[in-house]
Amino acid sequence: MSNTNEMTLEFTSISQNESFARVVVAAFISRTNPTIEEVSDVKTAVSEAVTNSIIHGYDNGDGKISIKTVVQDRQVYIEIRDEGKGIPDIERAMEPLFTTRPDMDRSGMGFSFMEAFMDELHVESEVGKGTVIKMRKEIGAGHHFE
Ligand code: ATP
Ligand code: MG
Repeated sequence: MSNTNEMTLEFTSISQNESFARVVVAAFISRTNPTIEEVSDVKTAVSEAVTNSIIHGYDNGDGKISIKTVVQDRQVYIEIRDEGKGIPDIERAMEPLFTTRPDMDRSGMGFSFMEAFMDELHVESEVGKGTVIKMRKEIGAGHHFE
């Protein structure tokens, strides 16, 4: 029998909410008994995606961001959604070092971190409609003591 738990969090697009969001997700996934490193990987991925919604999706303006998290056995699924400006060329945006905001000191590494720290990453986006980031990570993949 599978064992599923789910939550959705919606918050205003302001930079203070980036640390709030990653702490909430970390607390929610704690029942999977993750290592400190696994929690830190998930927090980094959430941070990168939420920061992108705030600074790129909404250009630091008004907006709402939502995060749906599902824990199913050892899998953690996270969806981060904004209704911001969208990404015209997703493949290009996901290339390491690609940024549309070099003026803001961005390094273009956000998607590369999400990819490195999670097991799966999918990006869906429509210009003028918004962006959805879907990520999955298996907790406990690297430590089998049973
Ligand atoms: P860094 O994350 O290293 O500070 P960055 O945010 O520019 O720099 P990525 O996170 O890899 O780098 O994102 C690459 C590009 O994709 C961004 O520069 C931006 O143009 C676009 N992008 C990413 N997320 C969104 C989003 N939610 N809405 C609109 N555009 C986005
Ligand atoms: Mg980024």
